Amino acid sequence: MLSRRAFCTCASLTFASSLASNAVHAADACAVMTRERQQSVSPDDAINRLKEGNERFIAGKTINCDLMAQVKGTTSGQAPFATVVGCIDSRVPPELVFDQRIGDMFCARVAGNFINTDIIGSLEFATKVTGTPVVVVLGHSDCGAIKGAIDHVKLGNLTAMLANIEPAVKATKASGARDSKNKVFVQAVAENNVKLGIAMLTKKSPIMKELVAAKRLRIVGAMHDLATGRVSFMA
Ligand SMILES: [Zn+2]
Repeated sequence: MLSRRAFCTCASLTFASSLASNAVHAADACAVMTRERQQSVSPDDAINRLKEGNERFIAGKTINCDLMAQVKGTTSGQAPFATVVGCIDSRVPPELVFDQRIGDMFCARVAGNFINTDIIGSLEFATKVTGTPVVVVLGHSDCGAIKGAIDHVKLGNLTAMLANIEPAVKATKASGARDSKNKVFVQAVAENNVKLGIAMLTKKSPIMKELVAAKRLRIVGAMHDLATGRVSFMA
């Protein structure tokens, strides 16, 4: 049996080592992404960094960094380790839900996180020119743009924009009504929108296709849950 004293020593050592490991984590998370650091991050490492960041976000254990130190550290250049294509929804800011900061990730945001030429061009800059090893197409639950596309909303320039989501609506089979009141259908269309977006990236971009073939880039889909803050990766 452990004596009380031995137990206390052991418990305080565990506490001390967990503090030390958190400090290492914070030092790593707060250090500015340089070209050297970025190049040491493989596509799988990059996905793990995002997954760990989302775990911290959900647990309420986000890391507080000196953001102005990061501003100063990135003034002369950037080398983010990840690129996210996300929706404009105010409840899904990629930097916050992945617990990342200045210079860590590129974010291309458009209502309904669809892929078009402008987004592909932005991603070619992020991957080929700047070297990020992962692209995440991030959809989310209860997306207003997805619901608008499902209901064929006509309003100003929204009409043309929502047409980008139409292929996902058409590709989704519904059990029940094909309208935005059917939450299961809305979620299925959002997931298909992400999957079609991923497929389009390598189909329309020989540059990214080549990076993926060379294992210098992974393109993955993920869904954010508005109710829990959790991001579930599709692969
Ligand atoms: Zn949305």
